[in-house]
Amino acid sequence: MVVLIVAFAIYSLRRTSEVRHEIAERRQAEEWFRTLINSSPIGIYVVQGGRFQFINPQFEKQAGYSQEELLGMDALSLVHREDRMMVRENAVKMLKGESSSQYQFRIISKDGQSKWIMETVTSIQYYGKRATLGNFMEITDYKRIEAKLEQTVAELERSNAELERFAYVASHDLQEPLRMVASYVQLLARRYKGKLDDDADDFIGFAVDGATRMKGLINDLLAYSRIGTRGKPFEPTNCGVVLDQVLANLKLAIEESDAVITHEPLPVVLADTSQIAQLLQNLIGNALKFRGDRPAEVHVRAERRNGDWLLSVRDRGIGIAPEFYERIFLVFQRLHNRDEYPGTGIGLAICKKIIERHGGCIWVESEPDKGSVFYFTIPIKGDGQS
Ligand code: ADP
Repeated sequence: MVVLIVAFAIYSLRRTSEVRHEIAERRQAEEWFRTLINSSPIGIYVVQGGRFQFINPQFEKQAGYSQEELLGMDALSLVHREDRMMVRENAVKMLKGESSSQYQFRIISKDGQSKWIMETVTSIQYYGKRATLGNFMEITDYKRIEAKLEQTVAELERSNAELERFAYVASHDLQEPLRMVASYVQLLARRYKGKLDDDADDFIGFAVDGATRMKGLINDLLAYSRIGTRGKPFEPTNCGVVLDQVLANLKLAIEESDAVITHEPLPVVLADTSQIAQLLQNLIGNALKFRGDRPAEVHVRAERRNGDWLLSVRDRGIGIAPEFYERIFLVFQRLHNRDEYPGTGIGLAICKKIIERHGGCIWVESEPDKGSVFYFTIPIKGDGQS
């Protein structure tokens, strides 16, 4: 009997200390939880029956009301009038069983300020009844920046379109008077060469040369401005077939430069077929032109990379120094004078514009005297503008 009593006493003592320990742990957890909620930079609240039942200090700060004012307040009265319908619809969805959702709306704080909020709401049980737990983050500054960015993008798009139209109209309308100047100076050259003094022959020669060059530049500018405005809709484009056609166009230049052109299997991409032909023709044409003293060797390949087709045109020509990698893609930028290599400097700018229209990127990697690789990407899904 005594043994039993002692055993029971030991058991009770142990149980009491276990319970004490559990209570202490629970208190600690509650304390920890309260500290977390009170120091959270996110506004937290619980709404039951449409009224605030719990709020943390950050929520008070965002709303500008005190805890006493908020507890029991109609939660919707805090929401901007124009957004109430949307917030109410979300609350109804929650009541119908949706477990959580995230949305953005405006509140009006006590001092009358409109503040943008991003909120995540979750359906919970609060003291045995259904309630909504909300996490509230102010995003007014972010919204202001977003609106400013949208405005800047819209302005940029507008001015870009205006510039494009301007370049088109200017280059198109300049063609006619230029044709007249060019044909009359050519007539002068034919009719009066050797009949005036030597200076006059030189002057007429310079005028003919200038007019011819200007014609080339204006034609290039017109071709450049047409990429955005006169592009065709995207269609499945077999790059292998396009390459064959480009090589046929470049037959003469290939023969002249003793070129060996190889390629790996090329994909079908969603693109403007004639612009892809123009792009490949410009890149391969450059590889032939800038081959240096050796016969040209050009290799075209394609691989899939992160949702894109990555195509490349590799040559073993004169190469490009790293400080010019970006500049060569600008309109009329060249690294050589016309006597060394003919051209106007529009080819790569056209390539860049074509690739941007297709939603891709273009860049070069090169080493002087060793050769260059021009890379470009085309999204596999054809995300560019059609
Ligand atoms: P263009 O060929 O009329 O000069 P591009 O815009 O096609 O105009 O090229 C701009 C410049 O980039 C060229 O003048 C040349 O200096 C350089 N470049 C282009 N392609 C190559 C290449 N494959 N190898 C070396 N340099 C190149």
